[in-house]
Amino acid sequence: MVRGRRLQKLNTPLYISLIVTTIVFSANYWQHVSSKKEIRQASLASQALVLAQRLDQVFADINFALIHQLEDPLLCSEDQRALSRQYLNKLPMVVEFRFSDFNNRWLCDSWGFYSSPIQHISAITNTKHHFLGPEIIPPHLSPMFRLSRKNQRGEEVSAIFHRTWLDNQIKYFHSTFGYLSLINSDSGIPILIKGHYSLPIQKTPVTPLNVPLNFEGRLDNGRSQFIYAEPLLTQPGISVIVSEENDVLYEGIYEIGFLWYGSAFGLFSILFLSASQLQKHATDPVRQLSLANSRHEFFNVYQPIVSSKDFSIQGVEVLMRWQHPMKGVMLPNTFIPIAEQSGLICELTRNQLTEMVKDLAPIVRRDPTFEVAVNICYSHLMDPKSIGALIRTREQIPGLVVEITENQMLAPDNFPLISALERIHNAGIKISIDDFGTGYCALSYLSQLPVDVLKADKSFIAALGKNSINSDILETILKLAHNLGIQALAEGVEQPEQARALTEMGFDLQQGWYHSYPLTIDRLLQKVERPEQFTLTQPKPWKM
Ligand code: C2E
Ligand code: CA
Ligand code: CA
Repeated sequence: MVRGRRLQKLNTPLYISLIVTTIVFSANYWQHVSSKKEIRQASLASQALVLAQRLDQVFADINFALIHQLEDPLLCSEDQRALSRQYLNKLPMVVEFRFSDFNNRWLCDSWGFYSSPIQHISAITNTKHHFLGPEIIPPHLSPMFRLSRKNQRGEEVSAIFHRTWLDNQIKYFHSTFGYLSLINSDSGIPILIKGHYSLPIQKTPVTPLNVPLNFEGRLDNGRSQFIYAEPLLTQPGISVIVSEENDVLYEGIYEIGFLWYGSAFGLFSILFLSASQLQKHATDPVRQLSLANSRHEFFNVYQPIVSSKDFSIQGVEVLMRWQHPMKGVMLPNTFIPIAEQSGLICELTRNQLTEMVKDLAPIVRRDPTFEVAVNICYSHLMDPKSIGALIRTREQIPGLVVEITENQMLAPDNFPLISALERIHNAGIKISIDDFGTGYCALSYLSQLPVDVLKADKSFIAALGKNSINSDILETILKLAHNLGIQALAEGVEQPEQARALTEMGFDLQQGWYHSYPLTIDRLLQKVERPEQFTLTQPKPWKM
């Protein structure tokens, strides 16, 4: 049972620490993973950027050469062809420049006039430069590309270069499933590919591509890939696009290193230890009692003590209750033992005495002999502050009685205890020995103590008429009290027969549910001052 409760106590810090560690760890882990992803994506994108920059540089240079050569009108003069040859030296990727009239007929190239004009296709409609290819341009046998530019009259100059030159620009890219490609920005049709070209499935269109694009998802080839695309600055109709399969691109980034395990374990340990400490602190019963005391959650109930002769109320026993904010009214067996062990009981009793004096003032004012029994323990007798408080209470309540259990009086040579009892007694406070008959107090010792009442334990009253041995002990207690010249009180009287039997036996006083349950002060005042209004509907004993 105890082990189970201990385990239960460990559970809350364990769960809290596990949950917090998991949340912190997951948040950090995903942040770590996404920043690594970004780094990998940026590193892939940089390959596209390198190509884009290189092509932009070359295309800008070619464009400059085209503008320079584009006379108006375009005469194919010797000077112009000489200029064109100079540019061929500067731009090794360009094989030749060709000059066309406004009917799309090539008339000459860098080297001379054609014997007859060559008809060609021109995609240019305006005066901006334009990219075309790949195409076969005789006499070249391999695919060629051209960059062309028209003047206002529609005449055109073109720089022609080999596809192999473009191929060489993307040679460096290596991937099993990815690709690096030059595409038509409007249609997505590849101009040049290294790898296995594929685009996102139709619902995520990539083209027309006007701005740089980041995409991660499933492609037409069925694979999950990351794509980065960027239109060329000098030739927005062409984009560089790079892609890599996610598994390859993100390989290893989801792995958790030893450092992660170490820091998660460290965080968990710190949280667990702190949470356990906090819980220990928050659920510490002594701390809870102390807090309850400072919040005035303790209150008194009063159980009448009646005369055996006519059952008239002679006094009350003060019993403590705890109005717990969550659990409701708590009975003393749940907190008095803890208060006694921790020493907090002295403070609780001092507050109890203050409340009691206020509560009972109307009754005591009318009847100063009204007896009020307070439960005390060994700690009170060893505490000068408590003794002082009792003596001061006696000044307000002349009929003050202290009840101390027989168990607490066991040591016959305990002189501090005896002298404390004598101090109290000398102050006019009566001393009652509670639960008498259960503590084996030596009779010789008892006779030395300043005792005024023997309070027979309720187990003997419960045994009345049922268990002859316990009934005999009850007789003995009664005789002992009367031989010592003190009062005999029977507690735990629940039945009318018990009450009658105790009267016949000669007990002086009685207390028990038959006579009254413990009452709140309002109910007690009603019972004592206006007994005719007192109803029998009383609170259940476990409540009050
Ligand atoms: P106790 O001093 O022997 O108090 C009598 C107990 O018997 C009370 O229980 C009372 O409610 C209960 N009782 C009264 N009549 C009957 C009856 O006819 N039948 C039965 N079965 N029980 C009856 P309660 O209030 O639960 O207190 C339990 C114990 O807690 C007390 O036993 C006493 O040792 C301690 N206690 C209660 N209040 C205080 C307090 O203010 N200070 C200290 N130090 N101890 C207290
Ligand atoms: Ca008592
Ligand atoms: Ca008792």
